Amino acid sequence: MRDDVTIAEMVRSAAERLTWAGVEFPRLEAQLLLAHLMQCTRTQIVAETCAVPSHEARCEYEKLVDRRAEGEPSAYIIGRREFFGISFVVSPAVLIPRPETELLVEIVLDYLALGSKARICADVGAGSGCVGIAAAVKSPFLRVLALDNSAAALEVVRTNAALLGVSRRVKSVLGNLLAPLPPASLDIVVTNPPYIPAGDIGGLQREVSQYEPHSALDGGEDGLDLIRRIVQEARLALKPGGLIAIEIGAGQHDRVTALLQTAGFLRVKAHSDLAGITRVISARSTME
Ligand code: GLN
Repeated sequence: MRDDVTIAEMVRSAAERLTWAGVEFPRLEAQLLLAHLMQCTRTQIVAETCAVPSHEARCEYEKLVDRRAEGEPSAYIIGRREFFGISFVVSPAVLIPRPETELLVEIVLDYLALGSKARICADVGAGSGCVGIAAAVKSPFLRVLALDNSAAALEVVRTNAALLGVSRRVKSVLGNLLAPLPPASLDIVVTNPPYIPAGDIGGLQREVSQYEPHSALDGGEDGLDLIRRIVQEARLALKPGGLIAIEIGAGQHDRVTALLQTAGFLRVKAHSDLAGITRVISARSTME
């Protein structure tokens, strides 16, 4: 085995391997895996292409690339994923944060900008905690209740809150949706609930269907089981004028709008992601 293999050569052959395995961004992922192994940034990997890592590092790298080629998502291999410009710890117990979910954080921050009072926000189905914690990091007066029915997910929430210095304002709560909370106690309900129709999960990319927790994806027969319950529970848990923001799947726009209107919510609004797909529906509570 040659012992003068450079970073550039390692990345090139890993990217080839990942291309064959059907990975969408092979070069980027090859760089991310090597940066993780070498404990440096991707920028350093790109800049120091002539460096020659040790033989051990090459062997370790091959193992990581093998895992990725077999379908395991990079975020689980590395244990981290960037969301809203913030690095979050992730584990296979939680959904990997998605860029389109950042829209939820923007909507919460826009709502907070309307007033100066301290606010309480429930992040329902918090998973890694990325939504509520990103909002708490950006908004120093916000307090967050991160709700999840998975104790393992709440461990990840606590780790992230501690690493990002917001533990005092982010409380993790084990429970079923909004059930643990008293009536009219919240200013904001934000949620990226499981919304995939149960029958569609097997047809998703293998990275998702084989590696991500089904409890974070499965929304029942029509995908809306959890959303229906959250809307009903949020109606009671929100204060008058409170905000609800729900991430939805493609094609669920009209049904979720109708659910919110029927429950008496006002100012129901659709928000599109960068691909022009309606991703989030927001509304205001009316309860007096
Ligand atoms: N709130 C987390 C996220 O947006 C987890 C969502 C979920 O598990 N459905 O990534």
